[in-house]
Amino acid sequence: MARFVYADNAATTAPSPEVISAMSSVFETAWGNPSSQHSKGYEAKELVDGARAKIAKILGCSANEIYFTSCGTESDNWAIKGAAYRMRKKGRDHIVTTKIEHHAVLNTCAALEAEGFSVTYVGVDEQGRVLLDELREAVTERTALVSVMYANNEIGTLQPIDEVVRIAHEKGALAFTDAVQAIGNVEINVKELGVDMLALSGHKIHAPKGIGLLYVRKGLSITNLIDGGGQERRRRGGTENVAYIVALAKALEIATERIPELDRVRAMRDRLIEGLLAIPYSKLNGHPTERLAGNVNIGFECIEGESILMWLDMAGICASTGSACSSASLEPSHVLLAIGVPHEKAHGSIRLSLSHENTDEDVDYILETLPPIIERLRKMSPLWEEIERKERLTK
Ligand SMILES: *Cc1c(COP(=O)(O)O)cnc(C)c1O
Repeated sequence: MARFVYADNAATTAPSPEVISAMSSVFETAWGNPSSQHSKGYEAKELVDGARAKIAKILGCSANEIYFTSCGTESDNWAIKGAAYRMRKKGRDHIVTTKIEHHAVLNTCAALEAEGFSVTYVGVDEQGRVLLDELREAVTERTALVSVMYANNEIGTLQPIDEVVRIAHEKGALAFTDAVQAIGNVEINVKELGVDMLALSGHKIHAPKGIGLLYVRKGLSITNLIDGGGQERRRRGGTENVAYIVALAKALEIATERIPELDRVRAMRDRLIEGLLAIPYSKLNGHPTERLAGNVNIGFECIEGESILMWLDMAGICASTGSACSSASLEPSHVLLAIGVPHEKAHGSIRLSLSHENTDEDVDYILETLPPIIERLRKMSPLWEEIERKERLTK
């Protein structure tokens, strides 16, 4: 039987056994409503409070600065819209972000543009690092918010968030970072980082889908996105998802403890990159070192990423062409275009994202399986024929 290799951890991760077990016990016993005035309610409330305290300790803030949400997308929406509406009252109606943000950020900004806010999309260099000079120029006294992702989900590039925060604050703007991909990869202390808001999601760190959080610095009041009951200190209504909140705290704890183990993941990543770059007409997308521990994103000329994925899947390897959200469309990745990959080449890129669950044998298997797939697909490509013909002429 063929091996099964899951190398799409940037799209989602398998819930870890410890997380499943913490969650199951909530479903089985602590299923009360945390707002109820009886023992079943107190039991659930205690679990939510405990999870919040644990998360606050890990992120270096106080428990009442953590707000649970339904996902990373909600956290991004809330941070950006909440800050924009609040700051507009102070005459600030401009948002600065980057061209390589997740669609949860980009489409939120687009929605605000339609409401009359102006948005500046700052560019990045060829390795995906935000252009700080361009950012500095973009931020003005009218800027409400600067939103820059901590790590990119497609190419894995890490951003100098501390520098971004400094630039935002110099002009009195708020600083927000989508840290969905970065968490569990780098130590994050929100106070040291200086951000006003930070978003996380559970399912990228081995908790289930459907839970996220937003850190909002104490004293900062942003407009509610979801009005309702008194939950989350009246700022995010909806009965708390106790089991998933417990799961998120457990997953965050484990992910943070595992950060020192990431050297092994980095070694697997680098072996994969080296092995795949041995294929002619291939190129690494993103930064060689300032990148997520498990992220490999490589472009292969003359073929379609979708075709590579299909063959990989038949061989039992799960990979992606970039972000799972945009994979369904045939538009080339906005991230690859932003780092200067030409349209035709942007189609031939694939992303392999590893986690601690992957092994050296997985890497061996990918390195055995992928090169023949590339070769086979290129043999069917008229573009490749052209390259081979030119090569023969120059020899
Ligand atoms: C996955 C992801 C999101 C969205 O999180 P969901 O919980 O799936 O809504 C936002 N930003 C980044 C960078 C992501 O990778």
